[in-house]
Amino acid sequence: MAAPKRQDTRKFFENLSGAGKSIAVLTSGGDAQGMNAAVRAAVRMGIYVGAKVYFIHEGYQGMVDGGDNIKEATWESVSSMLQVGGTVIGSARCKDFRSREGRLKAAHNLVQRGITNLCVIGGDGSLTGANLFREEWSSLLDELLQQGLIDEEAAHSNSELHIVGMVGSIDNDFCGTDMTIGTDSALHRIIEVVDAIMTTAQSHQRTFVLEVMGRHCGYLALVSALACGADWVFIPEMPPEDGWEDDMCQKLSENRADKKRLNIIIVAEGAIDSHNKSITPDYIKDLVVRCLGFDTRVTILGHVQRGGTPSAFDRILASRMGVEAVLALLEASADTPACVVSLVGNQAVRLPLMECVQVTQEVQKAMDEKRFDEAVRLRGRSFENNLSTYRLLSHRKVDSELPNSSFNVAVLNVGAPAAGMNAAVRAAVRVGITEGHKMFAVSDGFEGFYKGQIKEIKWGDVGGWTGQGGSLLGTKRTLPGKHLEKIAEQIRIHNINALLVIGGFEACDRIKQSASGTKRRVFIIETMGGYCGYLATVGGLASGADTVYIYEEPCDIRDLQANVEHLTEKMKTSIQRGLVLRNENSNENFTTDFIYQLYTEEGRGVFDCRKNILGHMQQGGAPSPFDRNFGTKISAKAIQWITRTLKDSYKGGRVFANSEDTVCLLGMRRRALVFQPVSQLRDETDFVHRIPKEQWWLKLRPLMKILAKYKTSYDVSDAGQLEHVSRFRPKESNNSSAI
Ligand code: ADP
Repeated sequence: MAAPKRQDTRKFFENLSGAGKSIAVLTSGGDAQGMNAAVRAAVRMGIYVGAKVYFIHEGYQGMVDGGDNIKEATWESVSSMLQVGGTVIGSARCKDFRSREGRLKAAHNLVQRGITNLCVIGGDGSLTGANLFREEWSSLLDELLQQGLIDEEAAHSNSELHIVGMVGSIDNDFCGTDMTIGTDSALHRIIEVVDAIMTTAQSHQRTFVLEVMGRHCGYLALVSALACGADWVFIPEMPPEDGWEDDMCQKLSENRADKKRLNIIIVAEGAIDSHNKSITPDYIKDLVVRCLGFDTRVTILGHVQRGGTPSAFDRILASRMGVEAVLALLEASADTPACVVSLVGNQAVRLPLMECVQVTQEVQKAMDEKRFDEAVRLRGRSFENNLSTYRLLSHRKVDSELPNSSFNVAVLNVGAPAAGMNAAVRAAVRVGITEGHKMFAVSDGFEGFYKGQIKEIKWGDVGGWTGQGGSLLGTKRTLPGKHLEKIAEQIRIHNINALLVIGGFEACDRIKQSASGTKRRVFIIETMGGYCGYLATVGGLASGADTVYIYEEPCDIRDLQANVEHLTEKMKTSIQRGLVLRNENSNENFTTDFIYQLYTEEGRGVFDCRKNILGHMQQGGAPSPFDRNFGTKISAKAIQWITRTLKDSYKGGRVFANSEDTVCLLGMRRRALVFQPVSQLRDETDFVHRIPKEQWWLKLRPLMKILAKYKTSYDVSDAGQLEHVSRFRPKESNNSSAI
């Protein structure tokens, strides 16, 4: 039953104790960037709640072999691994664990150490194995008892095995999760390569055929294609129709004729045609050379995609999942099924492991039986959305095929430039054209608007925009208030029926942080964000910061003193590196210099300090795959909403946009993209500091503190419920849709 309104339903995890419990963490199957962050978070959270935590080295093999493979973890033993790719505790494929005999040995090793909580980080194979292990657990104990390997007492006190899985897989092939740990980093690697190839291909007019990983799942190929505006993509879930060779060549030559100097074709490893015949990069290359005579090169990315440091997104995802996994273990009972923790939208959820595995297997079955639409549907909303957005943007229709809506839509950027803005403009322009609108670009924000810097923008004008940083339209911070009349006049002159504004109060992308070294050193880093502490907080979580000072959580001199003492104590142990982040406007008197001097003075003899103000580099650089993709999808949704709203408010040859729901902000809330009337947002905004009054990410702060060894209180009311794979799909409505 739902709780009565307004009653405080928050639940804090202080009531959950891990005392007397033992938790083991292992990584299994293919490695993925971010696994270490998950291990670190699970270990620290486990220790934090008073449990004994063990590493199991070398995946299931270590569990079967026992001995030194199972070692107790300490707080310090997971220090400095957040930024390391792969898995520090080792992973392996293990044949023994596939047999009952092997699992019997593994069970024996766990019982000997009193381990009844397992945290498994791996792909669907590893998690299937984990589930089987749990189902067999009591029969394994019986057998150990019969063989005299354990006594009654041990069988009794270890009678329940709790298992929580975290999906670590670069392929993003696991149903029930929007993102698996490692996928975003793999996308980073792919996009880095595509960006590098683009520069060389531009100079030579080349065609590149790029093979990316994904034997069964086309996620990496599809999203990379979206993020770099590829000419063509081949994925296992969408085999091209017969005759695709001609279609593709025609598309390539059209793009070339349109002055596009380079073509990119992305192929998933498992790409097939509609007769289940694989489509290889070489086949494509030969085809392009034979039919078009283009200079064509093949690049096969291979293991590069698994390498490198984990992205900020993966570190945050894995850290959140690691903490959530321990909470799920603490709350598990004999009746709760093994679960996976995952992320839907920006919310952590728990799902029954077996349900996810089943749906994942159904996808493969559907593909084997050539039910491709079903396979795409089973992959989930996020996948479907990527696919439909790609289809919408990649296939340019000839003018005669386009509808004519006779609406004019203008696009402009406002505020600070942010990576991903250009991807959003590109998507808006192309989707708008596809919907039959005439699209207009406004340069230099509202300043350009009132000065009349408006012109029509066509499909080809935004080619190659996804990968570029900054704002190609130009953006200014000028507010429209003073120039409303002139703007209205421009709207009249150009007969603009709808306006898409892309920008924000303070929109920054990401924070790069690489503070490592051998001397005991504390880095004091100032981040951007105006009064908004999001970047500092989330950057702190991604980089394992010790303290993050933000405006939203005021601190006084006692807090500062406690922080310095806490860090000094930590630095007296084997920990070499400290990291303190300070948001630029967190406090007008406790400036970055002040904090730097305070830590320098108080840390004398224990550590020295370095100060760094990140400044505008945070807004620069090429946009990350997430920002390209998010910018693209959100903007496509915005234009579709504009089309609907224009049609609804079109009466007697005119558009009437006078109700409050004709001016909306589109953004992600919890699990869905929501269109919210701006008039409602007014009440939710702190205009003086240019931030929302309620900031969802504030609840990530305790998490960061826990991982930095602070005692704190953590609201876990959002977590805890086990959901079902089919249930969490948000319904699409006029005002909300899945990302
Ligand atoms: P991934 O976890 O990345 O999908 P694999 O499918 O290779 O990788 O699985 C990793 C390990 O998990 C295997 O080597 C094996 O030890 C274990 N495993 C996989 N499937 C099963 C299964 N059906 N039963 C028992 N163990 C399994």
